[in-house]
Amino acid sequence: MGRPFRLRRSKIHGTGVVATRTIRAGRRIIEYIGERITHKEAERRYSVKAKDDSHTFLFTISSRHVIDAGVGGNVARFINHSCDPNCEAVIERGRVFIETVRAIAPDEELAYDYNIGREDNDPPNVEKIFGCHCGSKKCRGTMITPLDDD
Ligand SMILES: [Zn+2]
Repeated sequence: MGRPFRLRRSKIHGTGVVATRTIRAGRRIIEYIGERITHKEAERRYSVKAKDDSHTFLFTISSRHVIDAGVGGNVARFINHSCDPNCEAVIERGRVFIETVRAIAPDEELAYDYNIGREDNDPPNVEKIFGCHCGSKKCRGTMITPLDDD
């Protein structure tokens, strides 16, 4: 059957990943791969959080490490953020897997909540820099983790 998804121009942002057939809830669909680097190295590569798409190819896996999907990444790096996502990123022993959290219809875009963490050196407009246009009713307007998220 092959992969149940493909790349397509996204309504949310740039290039996205859409389902090519129905995908059931709870399915592991792809591993988010790339080069495993430290936060320090990520900062060196991409300076501070800039309005730069390359930064969203970074996936934080721990307080020490991130995956840089800009280096050796696969199509998982094109899965967009949504505030009301149909997928989630599951971290397992330092590896990241994208899994469906509900059934997905053909042509529906796959998305997960990036939940980008806040850092001390963030610019005051960090929520705007990582503004969200997912279009869902639950959209919080940013990919940054909400402050009141305990
Ligand atoms: Zn949103």
